Amino acid sequence: LAVVAALALPLAACGQDSGGGGGRDDDAEGGTVGIAMPTKSSERWIADGDNVVSLFEEAGYEADLQYGENRVENQISQIENMIARGHDLLVIAAIDGSSLGNVLQQAADAGIPVVSYDRLLLNSEHVDSYATFDNTKVGELQGQYIVDALELEENPDESFAIELFAGSPDDNNTRYFFEGAMSVLDPYLESGQLVVRSGQTEMNEITTERWDGGIAQNRMDDLLTAHYRGEPLDAVLSPYDGMSIGVLSALRSVGYGSGDRPFPVVTGQDAELASVKSIVAGEQTQTVYKDTRELARLAVAMGDALLSGEEPEVNDTESYDNGVKVVPAYLLEPVSIDADNYELLIEEEYYTEAQVNG
Ligand code: BGC
Repeated sequence: LAVVAALALPLAACGQDSGGGGGRDDDAEGGTVGIAMPTKSSERWIADGDNVVSLFEEAGYEADLQYGENRVENQISQIENMIARGHDLLVIAAIDGSSLGNVLQQAADAGIPVVSYDRLLLNSEHVDSYATFDNTKVGELQGQYIVDALELEENPDESFAIELFAGSPDDNNTRYFFEGAMSVLDPYLESGQLVVRSGQTEMNEITTERWDGGIAQNRMDDLLTAHYRGEPLDAVLSPYDGMSIGVLSALRSVGYGSGDRPFPVVTGQDAELASVKSIVAGEQTQTVYKDTRELARLAVAMGDALLSGEEPEVNDTESYDNGVKVVPAYLLEPVSIDADNYELLIEEEYYTEAQVNG
């Protein structure tokens, strides 16, 4: 919470031009910020975009928000366009973290600072600062949730079946989530308390292109057919709510969630509304809440600092090596959510009571 206070933004005295979406640059008192987001297919990025735009506007900037709809070439041309129009700052949540080297070079040549948003921009020195959550911690929370829910510590002689899913291979976060989770799960896999019947435990065997819930569902269908006929599955490590919903559909289609077959423990991330409702209904077990309002505030504070010639405030200068340099980062704290504490989301006005329980 101290973070939020520390990041309070100076409101500009004038220029509350709230047109959104890219007017001419010389309309803006504080300058124009180009915001490149990956996709509208997931709620969180819509909220991220809206929050970043309104906070920049409150601070006296004009905002040009674009969604690449998960197509790398769209995102590249959107950013090229922002540079061509002379925007003063770029805030980028990459679709593919290593695909933007050329455009980042163009931005640098034009003297435009760049904030990497949520996902690290890779293989370029032209990344000024990184606003994100503690991605390793996200994975640790998911892994620890499984350990606690299966009571592995209390039952050292029992063994449970688990399957592992990871996110999109071109998103740098994927590795951090997976390694965070595996740092907690590995000892139990080694002792045999957790067993992956498919044998698929390497990240490259379990990634999910573009975080697609349908792809996760198909893979879960295949795993159930090949390895779990008549054998129970006790837990699924899923890194993202949209994938968890796909996994649950596959499980439902073979009879989990009805009669005396409860769903396995299924983790998630983002506290998307469909998943929060699923948790309340006793289907998905857990998610990780990352308050996108805080992330937006952080990114705007970083951008504001860069445009004012100041050093953005950071709290991590070693974890995020992008292949060329360690990008100074500010890591926000993720929070594990399940049926026992989901009301936190309502208390913090992330959702209304009616949205969750209506
Ligand atoms: C974000 C997650 C999100 C995932 C899929 C990741 O880069 O950090 O919050 O679940 O992308 O959109």
